[in-house]
Amino acid sequence: MNRSAKTLALSISLISGLASTQSLLAAETLLGFDAAGSAAQRALEADFDSRIDAREMEAWLRDLSFEPHHVGSPKGYANAQRLAELFTSWGYATEIAEYEILFPTPKTRELELVSPGSFTASLTEEALDEDPSTSRTQDLLPPYNAFSRDGEVEAELVFVNYGMPADYEVLERHGISVEGKIAIAKYGRSWRGIKPKLAGEKGAIGTLIYSDPLDDGYGQGETYPQGPFKHESAVQRGSVMDMPTYPGDVLTPGIGATPDAVRLDRADAPTITEIPVLPISHKDAMPLLAAMGGDVVPAEWRGGLPITYHMGPGPARVRLKLEFNWTMVTAYNVIARLEGSEFPDEWVIRGNHHDGWNHGAADPISGLVALMAEAKAVGELAQAGNAPARTLIYAAWDAEEPGLIGSTEWVEHHAAELSEHAVAYLNTDGNSRGFINIGGSHTLEKLMGGVTADVIDPQTGVSVDARRRAMLTLEGSNARIKNEAKNRAQLRISPLGSGSDYTPFLQHLGIASINIAFGGEAQDGSYHTLYDTYEHYLKFRDPGLYYGVALAQVAGRATLRIANAQRLPFEFAGLTDNIALYLSEIEALTDALRSGTEDTNSLIDAGTYDLALDPTKNLGAPSSNQPVPYFNFARLHNALTRLDAAATAYEGKVDQPASAEVNRLLYSSERLLTRGHGLAGRPWFKHHLYAPGFYTGYGVKTLPGVRESIEQLQFDAVDEQIVIAAQMIEELAARVEDLSR
Ligand SMILES: [Zn+2]
Repeated sequence: MNRSAKTLALSISLISGLASTQSLLAAETLLGFDAAGSAAQRALEADFDSRIDAREMEAWLRDLSFEPHHVGSPKGYANAQRLAELFTSWGYATEIAEYEILFPTPKTRELELVSPGSFTASLTEEALDEDPSTSRTQDLLPPYNAFSRDGEVEAELVFVNYGMPADYEVLERHGISVEGKIAIAKYGRSWRGIKPKLAGEKGAIGTLIYSDPLDDGYGQGETYPQGPFKHESAVQRGSVMDMPTYPGDVLTPGIGATPDAVRLDRADAPTITEIPVLPISHKDAMPLLAAMGGDVVPAEWRGGLPITYHMGPGPARVRLKLEFNWTMVTAYNVIARLEGSEFPDEWVIRGNHHDGWNHGAADPISGLVALMAEAKAVGELAQAGNAPARTLIYAAWDAEEPGLIGSTEWVEHHAAELSEHAVAYLNTDGNSRGFINIGGSHTLEKLMGGVTADVIDPQTGVSVDARRRAMLTLEGSNARIKNEAKNRAQLRISPLGSGSDYTPFLQHLGIASINIAFGGEAQDGSYHTLYDTYEHYLKFRDPGLYYGVALAQVAGRATLRIANAQRLPFEFAGLTDNIALYLSEIEALTDALRSGTEDTNSLIDAGTYDLALDPTKNLGAPSSNQPVPYFNFARLHNALTRLDAAATAYEGKVDQPASAEVNRLLYSSERLLTRGHGLAGRPWFKHHLYAPGFYTGYGVKTLPGVRESIEQLQFDAVDEQIVIAAQMIEELAARVEDLSR
């Protein structure tokens, strides 16, 4: 019995007890509304729900994913035009915001085994009779990693497992270096861009990344088209731009990529890789791996291919040649605006990208069709006299796949007005059936708890909150998570790292953000391959789009509650509790480093959220040979104590009406968690509570200034980072004290 079947069976046995809690919640007033306001809002939401149509969403899904539609493609432009027409027809003031961006596409891709023997990699995905979409490939970009540099290299291979810091420690213990070699890494466990970044730092001259069948191919289940898992020829495309330094157009950091923007020379762009990197299928990887020698890999490094895995170096020697067309293309963001009836200067922004690496049915169209259904329903409600109180902006971003480019350029271009007017940003991306998964700013945790208690899971008939609680009660990765699933008033939402379009809003401007997706019951291997098609999606990911409807209900409710609340639904007790958790993790990490006896790997971010659902957690902790000083965490504890008292006092205010000035102080409170100077070495990232890890890429680092200086053994920097973080919490505490008066 696989994980998902087991979870479902156990979930159903548990949910009856939780269902009664959920119906109690539904009777309460909504956060930010009085009793009459709550009743009106609930009636509006029922009307909203009745307008969400799964069959219409399915038709949009088919249309928008009919052909490959990456940025710069004819279908990408046609989709932007189609979206603009639809938003306009639903009553929105719609524009297409264009940016001129650097977008490399492959010109030459060659990979061969030079010795022993010979083999030339096909670097091609196979069309399948069972899936007609896989034959519509006129504009398909072949498998590649965008923002790899050009290069031709020939060297012996070294197998580096997932290419994480801890993997290089193992290689070192075996006396193996990648200096002057080509690293071959498995996809998974980290964001892909970290693999060439780290290999390059260790002296490798090239990197290959392949998908091992043990991770998402025949080692997991039936492969496509018989099942959802990875076809032997499938290759995961994806960007390797150094997004932890800055995302967006590589030539225009910090400013919008308008036609007249001042641009870097490509040679000076710091986010293009140092060494060439190419993704390949396991079918192409197998002859290379089979020709390797040297030590046999540790048991936990073994994959699912029918070979003995060796670490090398060599004797397998390969030649890799990559050349790209470094062309400028136009990114088309579709921006649709509905003016608020009471507070037009307060903006609630809801976005999902529209570009895909290929047909992109799951990523991103499955999320986009939920956004479209929401926008259509909201437009109809407005025409019937129920316009939102605040201004709503629906955005369909272009060029997300190569590096969050469309959203980042729009945010940078409009930074001043967004800083002034943006109340919150709500993001979705891909979606599939399973459990609700929410990440975001913890000032919105309570709002999201209320929303997820009010939306019914299509498969089990209990709320999506109750269903997630049932799963975590059984499968939470530690005792605290299991206990909280039963007893905490709201489920914790995950802190956000990076990986989708919320990054510029949250981490560059300090706009409170939320990311929403269902998933966990439809594992598959289609991500960024030729096989992410309408056919695959409807057969394996979300037949009937029941979870597409549920996504529209969750995201639509959250958007409308923020848009209509009498007092904006931010609160601070949950935030305080989460920061306290992060601080305790950092202290535990420090103690473990100092004692040198604990497994620090298990402590990094331990308990932040469900490890089983996050593939980025296997960050190797540095093994410390240098003495670890005692740091002065007292100032952080004192700041948190003050914030805790203020947050508790503020709870007496949440159901009282608020002036426009109070609402402004509420939504701008997230800005207090940013610093103009940004994080050390990466000034684009301004947020000092949430950041993508410098060595995890997508994986979040909370209190990143403090945490990363400890993890990276830069002990001299720690006390200064503690002061920055404490000052920021003190400023927030002062704000909440003002709000509580
Ligand atoms: Zn996506």
